[in-house]
Amino acid sequence: MSGVQRAVTRERYDVAIVGSGFSGSLMARVLAVLGYDVALLERGTHPRFAIGESTTPLANLSLERLGRRYGLADCYRLAAHGRWLEHYPDIRRGLKRGFTFYRHHPGEAFAERGVDSERLLVAASPNDAVADTHWVRADVDHHFVRQAVGAGVDYRDRTELATARFESDRVHLSGSRDGEPVEIDAAFVIDASGPGGFLARQLDDRSGLDRTETRSALVFSHFTGVGSVRNVARGLPDGPYPDDSAAVHHLIDEGWMYSLRFDDGVTSAGFSLTPRGLAALGAPRDPDRLWALLLERYPTIGVVFGDATPVMPIRFVPAVQHRLTEAAGERWVLLPHTYGFVDPLFSTGIAWGLRAIERLALMFEHHAARRAVPNGEKLGRYAAILAVEADQIDRMVAGAYEAMAHFDLFAAHAMLYFATVSFSEVKQRIAADDNVAWNGFLGVGDVVLEPLPGESLRRLKEITHTRGNTGSEEDRRRYVEWATAAIAPRNVAGLADPTLHNLYPVDLDVLIEHHSLLEMTREQIVEGLPALRGMGPEPVFADQRGGDRSTSPQGPRATARQVPAPR
Ligand SMILES: Cc1cc2nc3c(=O)[nH]c(=O)nc-3n(C[C@H](O)[C@H](O)[C@H](O)COP(=O)(O)OP(=O)(O)OC[C@H]3O[C@@H](n4cnc5c(N)ncnc54)[C@H](O)[C@@H]3O)c2cc1C
Repeated sequence: MSGVQRAVTRERYDVAIVGSGFSGSLMARVLAVLGYDVALLERGTHPRFAIGESTTPLANLSLERLGRRYGLADCYRLAAHGRWLEHYPDIRRGLKRGFTFYRHHPGEAFAERGVDSERLLVAASPNDAVADTHWVRADVDHHFVRQAVGAGVDYRDRTELATARFESDRVHLSGSRDGEPVEIDAAFVIDASGPGGFLARQLDDRSGLDRTETRSALVFSHFTGVGSVRNVARGLPDGPYPDDSAAVHHLIDEGWMYSLRFDDGVTSAGFSLTPRGLAALGAPRDPDRLWALLLERYPTIGVVFGDATPVMPIRFVPAVQHRLTEAAGERWVLLPHTYGFVDPLFSTGIAWGLRAIERLALMFEHHAARRAVPNGEKLGRYAAILAVEADQIDRMVAGAYEAMAHFDLFAAHAMLYFATVSFSEVKQRIAADDNVAWNGFLGVGDVVLEPLPGESLRRLKEITHTRGNTGSEEDRRRYVEWATAAIAPRNVAGLADPTLHNLYPVDLDVLIEHHSLLEMTREQIVEGLPALRGMGPEPVFADQRGGDRSTSPQGPRATARQVPAPR
């Protein structure tokens, strides 16, 4: 028996969801809360390892909104490090105060040049209590699937689906579980099965990968005993938060490395390598050899990971990108990670996935009284926005890879990302309207922000010639000037300010100064400060009156079940 108790099985459902990562489970639970009969079908079992761990303010805002709207107390409480610790200390996580970047050069120790070091820190939160988190996905996904079962979702693990047959009003799924046939009949199917998604094969949803510019391979694992750049380069000035309480990015000639420290001392780390970078290393496919080669080539990373021990085998994935052509059709829809994935850079995956859950939930909510399912027009809107957003993420990331040629270019290009997300975050915090879920992700739909990643990529390629050229000092100066001016109409966070030497705190005074960019008065911003600090009052949830049950706008639907705790 897996770690999650199964509910009574039924064969006929309103909605079948394939895949029980956090997105499938959360989607299933919200629909159950709305009154739908939902089957959640999982090939594997929980708890299980999953990659994709680092959240952002936009991810946590979505989680809070889902929590508030559908009465899911845990979602609200898992959306900030302090609340998480208080309510769910057994679910493992890490503290993420912001984004840390270092530029390393082959054969050289990280160069300590005081405030002129090749180091960029961008704070995402003003303190630990309201900070973002890294999710230990084994625990978090297990938690969400248990909560889905608690809300009445019929969860079936170890279920291998073979076919999906679409009829005018139903979809028939068939497969097997432990050699026994499984037949499911649903009015609608949501595919949350991730890369190589189940429905894509059934519907002949072709690869759209030729739309995606970014290409990278990945070598990764979880480690104990990882050190810190700050302990190696002791002379670096203090930043707005401790460098390691962040998503740490080590930029290298061949791509970049992520390093995410969990509170229990385990670190999730991986190198994302461009095809050119991998080839330059001799294209080794043996993960241990490739890992050792990279640590040897970059001495400071070598010291930081010198005593690290992998807690599972180091793995190699030759290409992490995938993309399909259609994200929805009559009686089916794909969640974002099933539709496409670009790269872990900028941690867009969880936020994008949660935003899509919000959108679909709003669509279903509209039909919930009749337990009907969304129609073609609405699904078309969902699919159209997802396609534009996937392109936008790709351009932002592709630009970052070009910009890695020189740290000044990278730091300036990164400002486009940070200006875009901080502007969205502030708008969403001030106007807590659920329809913000339909706002485009990463600046899509914003006349100023939407064109920037594409324009930046074009300008960067002129400098780098897509060969990693660093360009002249004048080329770089002009690019930095362009990026600074381009974000100015949306720069509410005081980014691209040379006096800060790439060390950006969350500065609410700066935000107040920039009130006009938000079309607000100074007083309106000051009034919104508790919300802007992420310290608004906690909503009242049903579990405060006892039990960890979900309530919906329509009233409680969840049936209390005994579900074992993770581990
Ligand atoms: C290297 C890497 C690093 C990343 N880092 C970040 C990050 O730092 N921050 C961030 O926000 N995002 C990150 N992402 C993206 C993140 O991983 C995804 O957004 C996230 O995993 C999506 O979760 P999900 O629940 O949609 O799908 P998944 O986590 O992929 O879950 C899919 C589930 O479906 C099941 N399944 C698969 N096929 C079938 C089938 N045929 N039938 C039934 N079940 C099936 C699987 O067993 C699994 O449980 C990263 C991605 C990669 C590749």
